[in-house]
Amino acid sequence: MDFTKLKIKEIREGLIKKEFSAVELVDFYLGKIQEKEKDINAFLQVDVEGAKNQAKGIDAKIAKGEELGSLAGAPCAIKDAIMVRGLKCTSGSKILENYKAVYNAFCVERLKSHGAIVLGKTNMDEFAMGSSTEHSAFKITKNPCDLTKVPGGSSGGSAACVAGDEAVFSLGSDTGGSIRQPASFCGVVGLKPTYGAVSRYGLIAFASSLDQIGPMAKNVDDCEEVFKVIIGKDEKDATSVDIKSKLQASSFKLQDLRIGVPKEFFGEGLESKTKEIIEGKIKKLETQGAKIIDISLPSASYALACYYILATCEASANLARFDGIRYGYSGIRNQESGIKNLFEVYSKTRGEGFGDEVKRRIMLGTFALSSGYYDAYYLKAKKTQALIKKDFNKAFEKCDFILTPTSPFPAFNIAEKIDDPLKMYLSDIYTVPVNLAGVPALSMPAGLDGILPVGLQIIGKHFSDFDILQLAKAIEKF
Ligand code: GLN
Repeated sequence: MDFTKLKIKEIREGLIKKEFSAVELVDFYLGKIQEKEKDINAFLQVDVEGAKNQAKGIDAKIAKGEELGSLAGAPCAIKDAIMVRGLKCTSGSKILENYKAVYNAFCVERLKSHGAIVLGKTNMDEFAMGSSTEHSAFKITKNPCDLTKVPGGSSGGSAACVAGDEAVFSLGSDTGGSIRQPASFCGVVGLKPTYGAVSRYGLIAFASSLDQIGPMAKNVDDCEEVFKVIIGKDEKDATSVDIKSKLQASSFKLQDLRIGVPKEFFGEGLESKTKEIIEGKIKKLETQGAKIIDISLPSASYALACYYILATCEASANLARFDGIRYGYSGIRNQESGIKNLFEVYSKTRGEGFGDEVKRRIMLGTFALSSGYYDAYYLKAKKTQALIKKDFNKAFEKCDFILTPTSPFPAFNIAEKIDDPLKMYLSDIYTVPVNLAGVPALSMPAGLDGILPVGLQIIGKHFSDFDILQLAKAIEKF
């Protein structure tokens, strides 16, 4: 039986009706991984035994007639920045190469308690810094739609394993676009929730005020099923909030919707075929009765500059904990290192353990926060962020949703941008403003440029995540 077409709900139903067992399903996906990994390289670790044991547990529950969780039997993959107890958690970095997670992230605990089966951990740009997954210390993941292209990043492994039928869904994390941009490149659906909707407990921090964990799947229904499970207030993350009350999305008709189209997202730099596909989708919505409104997000043009100050500042603080004493790789343990003092412990550990992009960001962030520069950079970026938030608030007075391309171009060639950080940063020009504003956004497949998927981004007001999902389901049908 080919299980790849089954949605999460259908898997659960099939298990209950005993059409197949969880063990069969997991064996099927482990087989897929074995067959496809040599080309795709989406996983850093596959937990064959663990996955089989979880599947046996589900089958035992069925045999006893026990109630099954909403994700029962669904094989999933977790970005390697998110802790799964007992499995390595490297965040794509040599500095954590042998680090084993000692607890489950909040969302992983939730997934498991609802019956999802964790197949393994997925490749990513080191510490989630990147847009192509080429900054992983371990391997280069390829785009299943075209193996000469990158899968996007930083959650490239999580996008590629779903697109390549190696998992039903995955978790990614998104600080400036790392769920949406790879979802767009690989032709899957990815949701960056409202900041605070999902607990960050157990996520290795990049920029804590922007980071959010979210689901990636082949369709909107599956994304929603996973999202329902991972949301919620967690006392271990003070920024988490309970959005369960918003679960009953206000049911709207397309005819009543006002769709904002920001002119700043359709100008220079946007590839013509991507533009055509996104405009085509917007036109379709109009023919269905939605009102299309031209809007402006004037400060969005500063978003990338603002993001690369704020994110690097936070990263420089967050990554200070990797000092060779508490976690992972340490220069000290190397007997031949000839380390003489504490400074050398730090410099050797961090010099050898971090990759170039991470070092670049730590230096940028440390510089921007240093005395004398704080006002000129960090403070100014914070003020710019306030303007960007204001722009979104103003726009949402005129419209219910904002539609844009997810990325200005489809997946690019492997090695094409790796030596030019600024070009790489431009991949996220349409996604970064969303994180700065803290609002939710989803990327979904909108069409193809040749064989390469193009993603449509739907942005909504704070806590309108379920409304976004509802609109995405409507768009998915046409
Ligand atoms: N690509 C962006 C960066 O490099 C966003 C990364 C992310 O969302 N984690 O910072």
